[in-house]
Amino acid sequence: MRPNRAPHIGLGLNYILVGALGLGSLFDEDQYEVHRSAIVCHNSHQAGGRPMSDLPWVDSKPEAPEPIRDGRGASILGPRNLAREREVPDLLASPDTDAGTIPNLKFSYADARNRLGSGGWAREITIRELPAATTLAGVNMRLKPGGYRELHYHKEAEWGFMIAGKARVTALDTSGHPFVDDVEAGDIWNFPAGVPHSIQGLGDEGCEFLLVFDDANFSENETFLISDWFAHTPRHVLAKNFGVPESAFANLPTDVEKTRWIFSGTEPTVAKEDAIKCPQGPSPIRYTHRFLKQEPAKAAGGTVRVVDSRNFPAASTIAAAINVVEPGRMRELHWHPNNDEWQYFVRGRARMTVFASGGKARTFDYCAGDVGYVPLGMGHYLENIGDEPMVFLEAFKSDHFADFSANQWLGLSPRQMVKEHLNLDDETLSKLRQDKPLIV
Ligand code: MN
Ligand code: MN
Repeated sequence: MRPNRAPHIGLGLNYILVGALGLGSLFDEDQYEVHRSAIVCHNSHQAGGRPMSDLPWVDSKPEAPEPIRDGRGASILGPRNLAREREVPDLLASPDTDAGTIPNLKFSYADARNRLGSGGWAREITIRELPAATTLAGVNMRLKPGGYRELHYHKEAEWGFMIAGKARVTALDTSGHPFVDDVEAGDIWNFPAGVPHSIQGLGDEGCEFLLVFDDANFSENETFLISDWFAHTPRHVLAKNFGVPESAFANLPTDVEKTRWIFSGTEPTVAKEDAIKCPQGPSPIRYTHRFLKQEPAKAAGGTVRVVDSRNFPAASTIAAAINVVEPGRMRELHWHPNNDEWQYFVRGRARMTVFASGGKARTFDYCAGDVGYVPLGMGHYLENIGDEPMVFLEAFKSDHFADFSANQWLGLSPRQMVKEHLNLDDETLSKLRQDKPLIV
């Protein structure tokens, strides 16, 4: 944060906050440049560097963005959360094209409770945090080197995307074949409902990843943990079940809530191939996939990689795509015919307007670490409003990815028909595409 660096910007001068020029942290004021344009940005409480009021809630904040656009709106006089308002210029001053009532379609991991364990942490965005998101839930998890996400299973399928570092994952298929693999940033996994699994951080920094579950009501606090199960099973039953004396279970963890779930452990010294020896051999099912090693679809403004049951059969209930959108470029106007879209922003800043039919539309701004959502069928675009590549994941509760391009829709409709619908000239009609531009 810097002091008032522009005393020459006084009252009455209108400026725009171009957050698009941002660099680094979203909370660093230096990332913002001041330009003349549609969104007014000025210091409403200061003139000549002197406070205009002694009221205890009036603060001097230079170059604050104001909810003024094209002559409508007015400055904010009351309390404000400037850091948040700077993140969301299209909420602070809603575009003229927005209309009607649309539920909130954004929640940030910064606002999610982070549950800490000795081996790392996890924070979740579920239907409780983002009520519009009724199909999928997400978890952002970190494991230190050697840190375990305990052996567990759950009723929901789990789709995982490695954001950073390395991890070892284990699973067991229903035929009794074990699975072990080491994954790194850019890899994904999918454990179908009920399949028991574990994750362990490896290497110098361990790992961080995103999990997507095919039920919006999922909670990381409600999974079936092996230690929790044992703690709630009579000792004589454990003894009978495993054919050993009760004393074998004398040292079971007692405070599962605080000492298990995510806890520190010892990094494996054996290669993944040697981790488990059994006569029936390893699982023929591939629960992991090198997502970022896939050849992407290249578009004018970026790249798209799609993964679903067609190229990763284990992902039978969750389809996904990862998009890289270059600065100033945009994932084109499109919609999905099969299900809602759950988004995770991996890098950069984005603007999205969701068109909900019936004259309704609402624009949202997102940055890395946010989750977005698009209900089934609603038209949308995602524009990179930063100066670095904008990377986002889109996930669907479906066995396949599907989308329709507005451009291709019109390009493959009779020209006269399109002309009479939208009053477009021939020059514009000639530019319509018969393929999908994807990122423009
Ligand atoms: Mn899990
Ligand atoms: Mn989409």
